[in-house]
Amino acid sequence: MKKHNYSAGPCILPQEVFEKSAQAVLNFNNSGLSILEISHRSKDFVAVMDEARALALELLGLEGKGYQALFLHGGASLEFLMIPYNLMKVDGKAAYLDTGTWANSAIKEAKSFGETVIVASSKSENYNHIPKGYVVPTDADYFHCTSNNTIFGTQMKEFPNLNMPMVCDMSSDIFSRTLDFSKFDLIYAGAQKNMGPAGTTLVVVKEDILGKSGRTIPNMLDYKQHIEKESMYNTPAVFPVYASLLTLQWLKNLGGIAAIEKINQAKANLLYSEIDRNPLFKGTAVAEFRSNMNATFLLNDEAHAPLFDAMCKEARISGLPGHRSVGGYRASMYNALPLESVQVLVDVMKELESRS
Ligand code: PMP
Repeated sequence: MKKHNYSAGPCILPQEVFEKSAQAVLNFNNSGLSILEISHRSKDFVAVMDEARALALELLGLEGKGYQALFLHGGASLEFLMIPYNLMKVDGKAAYLDTGTWANSAIKEAKSFGETVIVASSKSENYNHIPKGYVVPTDADYFHCTSNNTIFGTQMKEFPNLNMPMVCDMSSDIFSRTLDFSKFDLIYAGAQKNMGPAGTTLVVVKEDILGKSGRTIPNMLDYKQHIEKESMYNTPAVFPVYASLLTLQWLKNLGGIAAIEKINQAKANLLYSEIDRNPLFKGTAVAEFRSNMNATFLLNDEAHAPLFDAMCKEARISGLPGHRSVGGYRASMYNALPLESVQVLVDVMKELESRS
């Protein structure tokens, strides 16, 4: 029987994606071949790549607006490096908002390319909020932010209006809520939360921001090369791209981002109201910045942990322990996690209260 999977990533995907992926491993498109053994240049796989790229743009409302979608290798972490390589001018500077561990990793990579201004940081409060009222230097080549902080359970609810390219790491909340995605010039996300299995990274880039850094960029790290080769510069991650396409199709059939946003809001409301109501628990993120994807919370009295953990196990809840930098618990409620799973967790929390 399937568990209630709260893993922060890789994480739960829609059941139909597991089933269709499994079928494709055995016999892809009734071809008598497995998806794992076909050429990435075969007609059937080129169609997968083309549809996945087009559907990503369609779901984000970005088709026909000068954007390209790419499915690259190297995870979101390689984008930390590719972004300054492609966008930071020689002798230029970049601006970063420091909202957590991943933002910090992005900053570290940018620093090796040139001047990297941290416009604001919430590090001193263990990243429990998103800084406000920061000023971005107008001469920066780009501004980088992280829309959802997977580890600290915070989410940006608003984004600045700037006169420069805005780059956003949306690894842990892409396709989960409606935003004006055309505000962003480069969006990237490792697949392994709301899109598919680990192994591919979605990059959505506005073409006209490229080719201006004045740097000689190695081909594999050059977005222009990947665009020119239609995301097939080298062998793409065939299976993760296929499973990502299935997830994007699932989302489209459900009604797209606007439809999943409502479900995600209902899940978050259910869990956060229990965290706030139940005297045994407390949330770690400042309420106005709470993430609808990753809810981080603690037991007020650690002595309840053994019983709570045992009750969660008994209820077939998986992946709930928090990241070591926050402790406690983290309930990741990505797109594919059903509302019923959140109800199971809330029931366990209530039951713990009644037993103590
Ligand atoms: N950014 C965010 C917001 C993340 O949550 C993660 C991974 N969980 C990363 C970047 C790093 O992604 P990857 O492992 O794909 O490099």
